[in-house]
Amino acid sequence: MKSPLPDYLQAVLEKARSNENGAPAGYIETLARADPSKMAVALAMVDGKIYSAGDDDVEFSIQSISKAFVYALAIEDAGLDRVMQKIGVEPSGDKFNQLSLEKKTNRPMNPMINAGAITAHALVVGPNSTAEERTDRILKALSKLAGRQLHVDEEVYEAELRDADRNMAIGYMLKAAGIISCDPREVVRGYIRQCAINVNVRDLAMMTATLCNGGVHPLSGEQIIPQLSVRQVLSIMATCGMYDAAGDWLTRVGIPAKSGVAGGIIGALPGQVGIAAFSPNLDERGNSVRGIEICEMLSADMELHMMGIS
Ligand code: GLN
Repeated sequence: MKSPLPDYLQAVLEKARSNENGAPAGYIETLARADPSKMAVALAMVDGKIYSAGDDDVEFSIQSISKAFVYALAIEDAGLDRVMQKIGVEPSGDKFNQLSLEKKTNRPMNPMINAGAITAHALVVGPNSTAEERTDRILKALSKLAGRQLHVDEEVYEAELRDADRNMAIGYMLKAAGIISCDPREVVRGYIRQCAINVNVRDLAMMTATLCNGGVHPLSGEQIIPQLSVRQVLSIMATCGMYDAAGDWLTRVGIPAKSGVAGGIIGALPGQVGIAAFSPNLDERGNSVRGIEICEMLSADMELHMMGIS
């Protein structure tokens, strides 16, 4: 029997289309030029089946969604104890690019705000690794999760690098606080490159389904992310993934999630399904307006809320 899911997903997109609020990220020209009419959704089940609708082959930069996966890599490469010494696990309630550290420990509050994500990037591979080695490791790992070779969008990378004052400031703050010890410019350069990796919603849904499947890739059957890292990443996504909208999201949608400024959102329902939505218009917190609406509809219609009936 033909699955009713593709038609349902198309209907969800049509409902979300009427919401024209928000605007694409404006801080670099390359993102500001994004076509706001683009919209897509994909669901990847833990058995590897994937369903999608809309502009599901349109690529956009992964941006902050990379933070969830790179945090997992940092845990794998440096060990959880070292990662915990360097990055906290508390929601900050701050904007994603806030220059802030925990008062007592000097650690960034969590790995989903830029300060924590830049630190996680620095922990990938090893203490003396170069930006190239780290981004190479990250690109390979994300490609494996997506099930195809991904590429860096060089235009986005160059544009972000030209306008990196705030992230550079965060890098120097981390160096001054003793959280990172290498050249902050190199670390931020690598972090910016990680954010500029292009994906589509089908890639993101499959990457997320691996998180939902205890780190085992649904298609290859390979344990790509260790179970302990998966638990850590999903917990952080639940509490910090939507920045200062995390509480709003958890109560309304009720699944661990992560957003990016290019308009992507992933949602992970452990044991069941990885969700990815995309549309460039963002709200004032930097989350995709239609992406949120799509996830809210999916959560309500399919009763995905982890805490009970939607
Ligand atoms: N590259 C962006 C930045 O570091 C990513 C932020 C995001 O997606 N929220 O500012």
